[in-house]
Amino acid sequence: MSAFASKFTVETETTKLQQDTEAEVSPFFIKLDGLNDSQLKHLRDVGLVNETGYDVRLLREKHVKYLLTGLGNLSAGYSSLDASRPWIAYWCLHSLDLLDAVDDDFCPRVVSTLKSFQNETGGFGGGPMQLSHGAPTYASCLALLLVAPKCPAAYECIDRPALYKWFLAMKTPTGGFRMHDDGEVDVRGTYTVIAIAALCNLLTPELCENVAEFTVSCQTYEGGFGGEPGNEAHGGYAFCAVAALQILGKLDMCDVEALKGWIARRQMSFEGGFQGRANKLVDGCYSFWQGGAMAVVNAAEIGLSGFDSGVEEFIPEVDSSGDGVDVSKVAEATPSAGGLTFDQGLLQRYVLLCGQHVEGGLRDKPSKMRDYYHTCYNLSGLSVSQHVLSEDGVPVVYGDSANVIAPTHACFNIRVDRVKAAQTYFKDKICDHTELIK
Ligand SMILES: [Zn+2]
Repeated sequence: MSAFASKFTVETETTKLQQDTEAEVSPFFIKLDGLNDSQLKHLRDVGLVNETGYDVRLLREKHVKYLLTGLGNLSAGYSSLDASRPWIAYWCLHSLDLLDAVDDDFCPRVVSTLKSFQNETGGFGGGPMQLSHGAPTYASCLALLLVAPKCPAAYECIDRPALYKWFLAMKTPTGGFRMHDDGEVDVRGTYTVIAIAALCNLLTPELCENVAEFTVSCQTYEGGFGGEPGNEAHGGYAFCAVAALQILGKLDMCDVEALKGWIARRQMSFEGGFQGRANKLVDGCYSFWQGGAMAVVNAAEIGLSGFDSGVEEFIPEVDSSGDGVDVSKVAEATPSAGGLTFDQGLLQRYVLLCGQHVEGGLRDKPSKMRDYYHTCYNLSGLSVSQHVLSEDGVPVVYGDSANVIAPTHACFNIRVDRVKAAQTYFKDKICDHTELIK
């Protein structure tokens, strides 16, 4: 057991796993200026430490190289993810976009591939001829919207009237939405509909009726949200609930103080990353699910209502390459740095030191394999903790100042400029229930 690890008076399987995890990550937190020359040379050779100091680096080029493999031909090992092809496209494209590395050449391929997953219902399946489902519809639309500024055909690929009718068909009298025809009703299905409807200017009063009421009914005694009323609070569902309420302008319908307390307590005091639920282990993907949920709540507290009030207020714009940022102003993250109610420096330290695979890609924790999902949500959490509510637009950056990545919109999780472009494109399109259902 590490000297830093938590002490428990009663040992259980859970406390043992926690101690094992603290022992697993503690070697990654060694002080770099205490290493000998050959150890330091090794870390500089692999790119993890900058050449002139002891600052940890984001392995930008290696992550790009890894992410590009996800947009090519995948090996047979991925066949079990056949129904998640829109997700793989979104995880890789959004990650590349945060690194400012989406090539113009991808865009026509993205449109033609995702179009082949689209059904006459307007919804998207996980692949050609697959059932329309809320999750691949969300992933497909986000992937289309993030490439659309470079390829406007991507906007037109979304069949708004058909999609609207499909959203209505998934709606239940409780206000929640089904994931698919005859499928489960939960806050995930609800968020995916509300997020895409908001981005495509389809948020009619008819679509929104009772949605906030259903969502609030999923808040638990702990302060977080479960997937359905009565379920245990969980980071992924909490993000869905918080973002949906914020988009609807109704976050104040839930117990915000209890919610903030629950999210803040999910940040692990030793590891610095977030856990998804009480008594679970740290996991890099919750850097976004929990960190993003807190970003949404904190922005709402100072009156930024998310979608309608203009996202330019929500997250300041910076040059995503880091070149355009005045590096002399980039703050080294400290416990008090930044405007979010968690330790932004500690979270970034976890992502950079424990999340990064030295060959590119990011992971849950050091003992786990890298994958596209964890790469996306580690980087998205990093983005949120660098940018949201940063003072005067100066990002809060742990380690090398070139670690700054593009700002993601905490409600939608595509870049802020992509959200603004979609908002502009769809602004004048019909958003009237009677017209849309004709
Ligand atoms: Zn995870």
